[in-house]
Amino acid sequence: MPRALTLAAIEAMDAADPLGPIRERFTLPEGIVYLDGNSLGPASPAVFGELEKTARDEWGEGLIRSWNTAGWFDLPITLGDRIGRLIGAEPGQTVVCDTTSINIYKAVHAAMGLRPERPVIVAEASSFPTDLYMAEGVLSTRTGTRMLLEGVDAPAIEDLIDERTAVVLVNHVNYKSGELRDLAVLTRRAHEAGALVVWDICHSAGALPVELDRANVDFAVGCTYKYLNGGPGSPAFIYVARRHQAEALQPLSGWWGHARPFAFEPHFHGDAGIRKFQCGTQPVLSLRALQAALDAWEGVEMTAVREKSLALTDLFIRLVEARCGGVGLTLESPRERARRGSQVSFAHPHAYEVMQALIERGVIGDFRAPSTMRFGFTPLYLSYRDVWYAVEVLEEVLRTEAWREERFAVRAAVT
Ligand SMILES: *Cc1c(COP(=O)(O)O)cnc(C)c1O
Repeated sequence: MPRALTLAAIEAMDAADPLGPIRERFTLPEGIVYLDGNSLGPASPAVFGELEKTARDEWGEGLIRSWNTAGWFDLPITLGDRIGRLIGAEPGQTVVCDTTSINIYKAVHAAMGLRPERPVIVAEASSFPTDLYMAEGVLSTRTGTRMLLEGVDAPAIEDLIDERTAVVLVNHVNYKSGELRDLAVLTRRAHEAGALVVWDICHSAGALPVELDRANVDFAVGCTYKYLNGGPGSPAFIYVARRHQAEALQPLSGWWGHARPFAFEPHFHGDAGIRKFQCGTQPVLSLRALQAALDAWEGVEMTAVREKSLALTDLFIRLVEARCGGVGLTLESPRERARRGSQVSFAHPHAYEVMQALIERGVIGDFRAPSTMRFGFTPLYLSYRDVWYAVEVLEEVLRTEAWREERFAVRAAVT
């Protein structure tokens, strides 16, 4: 990074950015700096065309025939394999279906079933809450089981893993602080104790290199509407290592996971492969939107994404600290590159109001209670100049205390 952070130096970084031209693949409104792609990725012109074609031609004209003629039935599998390339998974181990929450339930339940003598789920108190809620749902079906939490039962998750642990349910990147865990090291630690791992990669899939196969991960789940830009509510994915697929029980044993769904047999016989982890009919329009969104990754290497992501987050931290001193901000994300995901969080006593004032000025991040402002950095469509501009606006909002206007304190349902 250049020593003097002048605007000219930052524009030179954009000129030398190999991912710069990829921005063309996205539709971003004029005057917006979008720092919330870690919550909902933007649309692309390719998605609009694909949705139109699917609705008019495949649904409108093809009707029921399109399940076969347009390949609808196989979409969860074909898209799963395309996501596999981005998360280090060989084909046949990833399927796009349901929600992350539902897939957490399936994965944790299946893992518990593979370790029937072991009563404990180890997780993090700082986890994205739905992971814990779903784990509680699994526990409610199995008497004598319980959950131990990092941050409650011990300071470090490693200290909770022992011969009673069936499964370690853990987030690769923390949704709030952006802290990145070492996926390979923690997986090895769990395996040494005879436990299985379920990784939640919602904040790393499409954000940085993930090596599920290489790290010998057992199960993983993730979103497609964040860094993969699949659109609001686009279905999630679940990865089940090939070695577990035959034996692992799918607790939500719906007909789409059956070995012969159209034989309409009275009992469940799960497919031998990854198809078993689907439940029922999947949302074809959303799957098609995701398919078009994944085209944006053509020719993009995750190592290049990571390099730019770190440069963007380094620049943001450095500019904020240089320009916004003494106005109540505290860095909540790791300064150390190896421990940082693709977002930067700052705490502020009036984080909600400050974020509303930023959004009104076209700099869109988000707020997580009680006092966190999150800024997501997505290398496919953000420039270094965007970072510069965002900090200019943040400095102005904080210095002038523009956030004190009453309307900024009115809380919306989704923050
Ligand atoms: C976004 C997110 C989820 C969301 O789950 P849904 O079921 O898709 O609503 C789950 N876990 C993490 C870590 C997330 O960031």
